[in-house]
Amino acid sequence: MTRAETSKRSRLYAPSIRAGRTRISIVDQDDEHVYQPGLLFVPFGIYSREKVTRVRHRQVHRDVTYVYGRIHRVVTAENRVYLSDQSAIDYDVLIVATGTRVVPEETEGLTGAGWRESMSDFYTVEAATALREKLALVDMFGLARDDFIEELEGIITVGEFYQLAAGGQIIFT
Ligand SMILES: Cc1cc2nc3c(=O)[nH]c(=O)nc-3n(C[C@H](O)[C@H](O)[C@H](O)COP(=O)(O)OP(=O)(O)OC[C@H]3O[C@@H](n4cnc5c(N)ncnc54)[C@H](O)[C@@H]3O)c2cc1C
Repeated sequence: MTRAETSKRSRLYAPSIRAGRTRISIVDQDDEHVYQPGLLFVPFGIYSREKVTRVRHRQVHRDVTYVYGRIHRVVTAENRVYLSDQSAIDYDVLIVATGTRVVPEETEGLTGAGWRESMSDFYTVEAATALREKLALVDMFGLARDDFIEELEGIITVGEFYQLAAGGQIIFT
C-alpha cells in the first residue's frame, strides 16, 4: 500500500475507530522498534542505537490497542489468534506482518572463521554496532598507512567520507 493509500484509509476508518465500531490491535513479541533503514548508517557512526530504536508501544496511536505478546498460532476457522500465554484475540480481518529473522548460519561458509571479526552483516542493531567498531579501527582488513601507495593522502573513516561527500550522490553496491 502506498503512503497516499494508507493516509486515505486512515481517514476513512478514523470516525469508526473513534466511535468504537472498529477496533485495531497490534500484537508484537517485543517492545523495541528498530528503524531498519537507519541500520545502514550505524557502521559509519552517523546513527547510534538510540537514534534507530524507539519504545514500540509509544509509537502506537492511542485509539489502537498494543498487545505485548508472542503469537503462538492462528486458527482461521475460529477467526482467532492464540498467544503463548494462552490468551486469545478474535478478529474480523487479520494482517500478518511478521517480517524476517536474520539466519547467517543458513549461508554456507558465512559463519566460519572470521565471522563478525573480519566480515559482518549490519541487519541488526548488534551487528551494525559491532561493524562500526571494526570500521572505526580500520581493523576489518588489518591495514595501516604504510600498506597503501605513496600517493595516498590519508585514511579516513566512512563517517568522514560521508561528510566530505555531502551533497554528492552516493551509490551503495
Ligand atoms: C539494513 C536495512 C535497510 C533497509 N532499508 C530500507 C529502505 O531504505 N526502504 C524500505 O522500504 N525498506 C528498507 N528495509 C526493509 C524494511 O525495514 C522492512 O521491509 C520492513 O521493516 C518490514 O516490515 P515488516 O512489518 O514486514 O517486518 P518487521 O519490521 O520485521 O516487523 C515484524 C514484527 O513482527 C514481530 N513478530 C514476528 N513473529 C512474531 C510472533 N510470533 N508474535 C508476535 N510478534 C511477532 C517481530 O517482533 C517484529 O517486530 C531495510 C531493512 C534493513 C535490514
